[in-house]
Amino acid sequence: MRSSTVKEISSWFSPKVYIAKSTIEGEGLFAKDRISKDELIAVKAGHIVPGKVFYALPEACKHAGLQVADDLFVVPIDEEEVPRVMNYINHTCDPNVGLRGHLETVAMRDIEPGEELTGDYCIAYSNQFFQFTCNCGAAGCRKQITSDDWKNPVLQKKYKGYFSQYLQMKINQLNQV
Ligand SMILES: [Zn+2]
Repeated sequence: MRSSTVKEISSWFSPKVYIAKSTIEGEGLFAKDRISKDELIAVKAGHIVPGKVFYALPEACKHAGLQVADDLFVVPIDEEEVPRVMNYINHTCDPNVGLRGHLETVAMRDIEPGEELTGDYCIAYSNQFFQFTCNCGAAGCRKQITSDDWKNPVLQKKYKGYFSQYLQMKINQLNQV
């Protein structure tokens, strides 16, 4: 028997956003109304799994996952869950949203209606699964997005306050010489 809607796992999205065809890839998240800097946009849901479980999941699940510790991921565990759990935020090197804590997506600046919400994956991902070639077209595009980008002092400064908390703690340790 199919479980009731309230029992299904799903992420939360602000009523100020909607999902539509992305200008970058697949589907994306867009602002319906004006969103203020630091306003809450989404809260990620998923199953919390270690790397060895994560790697065995279908590709669509892995792509909808969020890294929350060195070896922990919040992720849909079957493809049926993907549309309700993924956050629809594509990567650009000139993003307008970041993270608060581990699971909350917030605006890094004021966002106007119609703008696509994008994030720089270096603020959450330090795992090699999330390395890829970027063609975002931003002036400062890094081209190669790597699992070590969070170690870059320029990016540490650019995204200060918007890194996933586990990565911010790693950054603090790294810089505590
Ligand atoms: Zn780029």
